[in-house]
Amino acid sequence: MNSEGYKAWFQCINEGCGATYPLSKIVYHCEKCGSLLEVQHDTAALARRSAAEWKKLFEHRYRGNEWPYGSGVWGKKEWVLPGVADDNVVSLYEGSTNLFWAERFGKTIGLKDLWIKLCGNTHSGSFKDLGMTVLVSQVKQMMADGAPIKAVACASTGDTSAALATYCAAAGIQSIVLLPRGKISLAQLIQPVSNGSLVLYLDTDFDGCMKLVQEITKDPTLYLANSMNSLRVEGQKTVGIEIVQQFDWQSPDVIIIPGGNLGNVSALGKGLLMMKDLGLVAKLPRIVVAQAQRANPLYRAYLRNFETFEPIQAQKTLASAIQIGNPVSFEKAVRTLKQFNGIVEQATEEELADAAALGDRTGMFNCPHTGVALAVLLKLLKAGKIDGSHRVVVISTAHGLKFTEMKVKYHQKELDFPSRYANQPIELPARLEAVKQALQTALDKR
Ligand SMILES: *Cc1c(COP(=O)(O)O)cnc(C)c1O
Ligand SMILES: [Zn+2]
Repeated sequence: MNSEGYKAWFQCINEGCGATYPLSKIVYHCEKCGSLLEVQHDTAALARRSAAEWKKLFEHRYRGNEWPYGSGVWGKKEWVLPGVADDNVVSLYEGSTNLFWAERFGKTIGLKDLWIKLCGNTHSGSFKDLGMTVLVSQVKQMMADGAPIKAVACASTGDTSAALATYCAAAGIQSIVLLPRGKISLAQLIQPVSNGSLVLYLDTDFDGCMKLVQEITKDPTLYLANSMNSLRVEGQKTVGIEIVQQFDWQSPDVIIIPGGNLGNVSALGKGLLMMKDLGLVAKLPRIVVAQAQRANPLYRAYLRNFETFEPIQAQKTLASAIQIGNPVSFEKAVRTLKQFNGIVEQATEEELADAAALGDRTGMFNCPHTGVALAVLLKLLKAGKIDGSHRVVVISTAHGLKFTEMKVKYHQKELDFPSRYANQPIELPARLEAVKQALQTALDKR
């Protein structure tokens, strides 16, 4: 099996323009009209293989060890980046993350068929690996073909940089990351440091880092890895395909996803639409984007029926990876929401922290962004917009272990609200009597 004969190229998302560029060209915006680009596939060629054949091929490769096709992303290589040589694929066996039935949490909130897609159970601890394997593979291919690229750079709220640093290190390519000082977790800072990245730690927020990285990557020897680079969407779109595959090729009713820069929701929609176009599913799920109230430009636009968009100054939020006021992929996200009967809902700091903690009490270990998604689920259930009989998937975007500072503060009750589900370690002398006494008091209380 090889991916020869399938083609992909960059295409302007502005339908009136439609300009195209080869994937080997260093271009992030349309040179004619300035719009974002997206990767377009030769669907006619892909459609020559039947839906049943695609399903069989994807299942055959799934979690196997035939490199690189055992990766959840590269198992779908023809749909993702057909033109890259297998030798230039930089893969750390990303994707194929577990999708589990959150039985007890579901019971707690009155939703029987609730599932969590754990995208954080992966190499660098967030879904950003799905996109970064594709981008760095394309860079390696371009460098092999003689492109004078010296380094790959990104601005980040902490997870894109961790993914870029690790994939570049695996490929032997220099990475540069621009991070907002004090606005990422300690784990997110030490990840690129450990992977040998050039770490620029700046007194600004994400939007400030983004402006700077766009300036420095005007130099064509510095390649831009942010999500306006639509190669990443190609890898990230496999999450929706994988969810459907994990349900034996049935779409769930609703998928809830936390959104910041809005690349991921666009990717989710793109993968699902591709499945529909190629006949792998008949029905599409409803998509819900969950935003932190302190960084909610999409939610505000949703309330105005997307008639206007205004960037905002994002406020500090526990959900630091989505603290973004001027999302790059706004237009793509709106298009996706319109295609998927979309909903946008927001969560306050207290709602997101309590929802994450309540989930943890039922055996999860949620990052704050997953907390935003869970809080939004609770609100939509209460409002009757999600029915208790629906099959709902919550996309958990990162591993909770990357965000321990937030969890410590919650359980130590050091936040601006009561921490309803706080649980504190009992400090006591190491004497049997004291331990017995403490156990008796604690267990009697329950
Ligand atoms: C990047 C990120 C998001 C938001 O994804 P966007 O594509 O920027 O909308 C959500 N959660 C986590 C943990 C992230 O790292
Ligand atoms: Zn254009």
